[in-house]
This record gives sequence, C-alpha cells and structure tokens, in this order.
Amino acid sequence: MSSLIHADDQGFFGDHGGRFVPPQLEAPIAEVAEAYAEARDDPEFLAEYEALLTDYVGRPSPLFFAKRLTAELGGARIYLKREDLNHTGAHKINHCLGEALLAKRMGKRKLIAETGAGQHGVALATAAALLGLECEIHMGAIDVAKQHPNVVRMELLGAKVVAVEEGGRSLKEAVDSAFAVFASDYADTFFAIGSVVGPHPYPTMVRDFQSVVGREARQQCLDKIGRLPDALIAAVGGGSNALGLFTAFLEDDSVAIYGVEPGGRSLDVVGEHAATMTLGREGTLHGMKTLVLQDADGEPSPVHSIASGLDYPGIGPQHAHLRDVGRVEYVTASDQDTLDAFQLLCRTEGIIPALESCHAVAHAMKLAPTLDAEQVIIVNLSGRGDKDIDYVAERLGVGTGSSD
Ligand SMILES: *Cc1c(COP(=O)(O)O)cnc(C)c1O
Repeated sequence: MSSLIHADDQGFFGDHGGRFVPPQLEAPIAEVAEAYAEARDDPEFLAEYEALLTDYVGRPSPLFFAKRLTAELGGARIYLKREDLNHTGAHKINHCLGEALLAKRMGKRKLIAETGAGQHGVALATAAALLGLECEIHMGAIDVAKQHPNVVRMELLGAKVVAVEEGGRSLKEAVDSAFAVFASDYADTFFAIGSVVGPHPYPTMVRDFQSVVGREARQQCLDKIGRLPDALIAAVGGGSNALGLFTAFLEDDSVAIYGVEPGGRSLDVVGEHAATMTLGREGTLHGMKTLVLQDADGEPSPVHSIASGLDYPGIGPQHAHLRDVGRVEYVTASDQDTLDAFQLLCRTEGIIPALESCHAVAHAMKLAPTLDAEQVIIVNLSGRGDKDIDYVAERLGVGTGSSD
C-alpha cells in the first residue's frame, strides 16, 4: 500500500499529485524541488525556521479546552488549536516563512505569488519584509477592489500588488500572470504557493512546513489528558491547515479524522459551493492531478463559499489520496451552519473566528453530541475573524447598537 504521508519520487500520493507544468516551468520547479530536498535535511535551515516560529510567530500556539462550548453542545470535550493567535492571525505564516527562508537559501531576491482574497499575499509580504526580500503579488482586478484592506496591508509591508486585468480578472488569471513572470525571471525569483497544492514539491513542502501544528497538538494533548484525542477536525480549502494538524496523527488508527469542505448555499447547484472532495472528478489543475470541480469540457467550475479562503475548485493531492484509502472522512458545512458556528464560538468562548475555521467548528457541533463526555475532539482554529466582521455584521444585522 502506498504511504499515507510520503509522496513517491514523482510527487504522487497514490494516484494524485505529480508535476504537470508547461515546458518553460520544468526547470524552475525542478530547481525548487532539489533545493528543498537538501534544505529539509539541513539542521541549520531547520533551526533557523524553528527559531522564527518561536520568536516571530509566537509558537507553540495553545491547545485550549473550550469548556463553555463543550457544555453547550453536550458530549465530547472540544479543544481548539489556536492558530488564530499566530502573528498575522492565521496558519499561513507558518509555510510562508518556510518558503521565504528557502528562497533566501537559493539566493533568490524576490518572492512572487498569486492571491485570491489576499490572505496568502499578506502572509507572504510579511515574510518578505522580515527576511529582506522583494515581494510581488498578482491579484485579479476584481479581487483588488473587493479586498481593499488586504491590498493596503500588502503595500504597507512593502509588496508590489499587480492588479490583473485579463479575462475574468480573478484568481485564475492572477495564477497565470504570476506564473508567466516567474517563468521569464526565475534566476532571481521564487514562486511561493499558498497551500498544499500545485506541482511537486509544493504539496509536500507546504505540508512539511505546516506539520508543526499537529506535532504540537499531539504533545499538548498527551500532556493535558494523558492520551491521544479521539477525533480531529479541520476546514479544507486547498488543505494546508488540515494537513498541518493531521500529519502527526495519520498513523494513529484510534484517531478519527475529518476534513470539512464548504457546502456553500447549495450542493445541488454548480457555482453555489466548493465541495471538491464530495462532487469533484479526476482532473489536472495548477500543475497537479487531483479532484477538480469541473464542467463537461474539463474547465474548472465557478465556486462559492461564505469563506473566501475556501473557494477553490481543486484540492491538495494528498487529501484526494487520504480519501481514496479511507483514512480521512470528508464532510461539508453549509454557509448557514458556518454562520451559526461563528456566533456560538463568539458567545461561548469570547473568540471571533475566521469564517474558514468555522466550517470545522460547525462539524464539531454535529459530532460532539454523538460522542460521550470522556472523548476528546481537537478542532483546528486556523485563523481569527477580524477580517470577516463587516460581512458578518451585514448578514446578521448587528452593529447598530440598541436603544431602550
Ligand atoms: C487560507 C485559509 C484557509 C484555507 O486554506 P487551507 O490551505 O485549506 O488551510 C483556512 N483558514 C484560514 C484562516 C485561511 O486564511
């Protein structure tokens, strides 16, 4: 049987993954693979990375017993892995620092990436500023207008934001635009991908940089309760925060593992969800073979989620493999479930969570009451919700005060 954790030499996890790129990107990406294969075994590189995680990101992030949430739901005890407390407010800084350090080690001067909602762009611009690298972020012109605060953040951090005016002026065009610049200038430039997606070695590399989350959670759980948890839950967009938590537990058969996809407004209507594992078919997207939400011609379908960090029509290839072998169960949470979870966590724990992370909380709300009080669930709280409050306020009609 193929490994749950390791890709083969070609970057395949079972039937998924690999490296499917145009000829002009072969050499630049092979160079990244070679450099990473050396760096991951270099104690000095790893020590530098770990020091930044400690002193800059603020790791380890706490594993917090959500006592009032647990009491409210009745059933298993829920612990939250607090990635929302990291510098920049989410898990993405973990892999952005790793990629930026690797770029420096390779002698690159500049980081380049695409961003959709801007979260990856902000995390990468942060890492670039810290390490003295230039940063160029390609973003669809529509997203530039919609995600104005993140554009401001990136520019304040010294990044150049390129508004892409081609085609649908959204994420897909931003990816093409960033790759084109990279292919023409790779002697100086490192392409930094924002999740466990893309051509080999990115799914492995980003996963490795995120896996600190699960290593910490495993030890924290042993310290606090003296045994492993019964279940893990994480939201899945491309899949990096989920694999970050899951990796250290994949070979522990007693631990049930759930990935939660965005069910959006409806699973029955194309374009109203982003449930790739539930409704996707085999395809090739962004340099990897994986499950893809696609139309009859193989074009990626439009997607929707209340959480902009989850609206991606593909999925990291390792997730597709973990589904194939039955190690991880993939479920969905709708926009409405997610909003309910958002409000519950605000009121029971005093934590305003990212809407992405609320997909995981929503599944915990279903699972916990089916388990008994001795059992333990760890939920990955991938980010904080400050970025989401204007949207949520409008949806819920709060923020006008009350008079009496
Ligand atoms: C980007 C993002 C996600 C989704 O990305 P993954 O690669 O699936 O983890 C989830 N949560 C937050 C807070 C994010 O910013």
